[in-house]
Amino acid sequence: MFNKLALIGIGLIGSSIARATKLKGLAKTIAISTRKAATLEEARELGLGDTYTLDAAEAVKDADLVIICAPVGAYAEVMKQIGPALLPGAIVSDVGSVKVHVIKVMQPHIPDGVHLIPGHPIAGTEHSGPKAGFAELFEGRWCVLTPDAAVDRIAVDRLISFWGALGSKVEVMDAAHHDLTLAITSHVPHLIAYNIVGTVDDLEAATQSEVIKFSASGFRDFTRIAASDPVMWRDIFLTNRDAVLEMLGRFLEDLSQLQRAVRVGDGPAMEALFTRTREIRRSIITAGQETAAADFGRPHGTAETGAPVPAPLDTPEVGIREHGGGEDA
Ligand code: NAP
Repeated sequence: MFNKLALIGIGLIGSSIARATKLKGLAKTIAISTRKAATLEEARELGLGDTYTLDAAEAVKDADLVIICAPVGAYAEVMKQIGPALLPGAIVSDVGSVKVHVIKVMQPHIPDGVHLIPGHPIAGTEHSGPKAGFAELFEGRWCVLTPDAAVDRIAVDRLISFWGALGSKVEVMDAAHHDLTLAITSHVPHLIAYNIVGTVDDLEAATQSEVIKFSASGFRDFTRIAASDPVMWRDIFLTNRDAVLEMLGRFLEDLSQLQRAVRVGDGPAMEALFTRTREIRRSIITAGQETAAADFGRPHGTAETGAPVPAPLDTPEVGIREHGGGEDA
């Protein structure tokens, strides 16, 4: 599909793109660039690409597809480096979780004849770095592209085909609409998870140990989300502020209503809400975006009973493939 793919940033998402591109033969060569020498070395050891360099401009030379896979806060620096080295006719894309802001940062560095087509694969896990990636990450998951209406349609179609070949379903959307949608489906839920886990961390020690001990009753599922990369999420809240505040405002209004229902003992109101929310979960399962297995498919039972034994908690795969519970930014 492409002669040369350049990946700038080779963590969870970049390394997953590299693995899937290799596996499916979608580019003749893959050039990898990242900020730190140690990360580049890790990528080389994993055999993720064909060429490796700390110089982003060198990586994008002659590349007909460039995908920035770094945290959103690094884009300004990356674009300054690669802008003058971009090949005429190349497609420049990214995987950032926020779109209006990244377009503002990327656009001024895009030379005439180069096609800027921002993207966001709605797929991920709470793990980071080159080792965390896997080729199947995008299978059956959505990838949103947010090109300006004036961008060359043939270039957009080429990128749609690329993501399709990686296994994604692709939707083209307005950048502002993307940011508002993701604020409620991903960013605010992360903020809530960070907040509730932080609240527990602030509890006095005795209560805290009880929370850890009995965490399976709900808290544990928040901790998986709250284990997501701190730098990446800092950048998301710094760059999607308006959409997050809009959705957070609505969330807080609804929470106040729920608080009141609890205070006055309004059982019917609570039951009506909880019935609606249960339906939402069912429709996500029906849409194939979540496992139908109880408790996210976590194994239950012990070695003595012959039933499956849970995987150790520090296994990276826990919460990714077996549980179908990958985290999306
Ligand atoms: P990650 O695993 O932490 O990887 C980030 C990569 O960017 C690392 O290779 C890091 O390398 C590199 N990097 C950092 N600063 C850089 C710079 N100035 N120049 C070049 N490379 C730099 O993060 P990730 O989860 O793959 O996320 C990458 C992007 O994907 C983010 O924009 C995020 O919003 C988006 N995204 C994430 C998810 C998710 O669930 N994780 C889902 C969809 C989209 P060094 O070690 O060399 O610094």
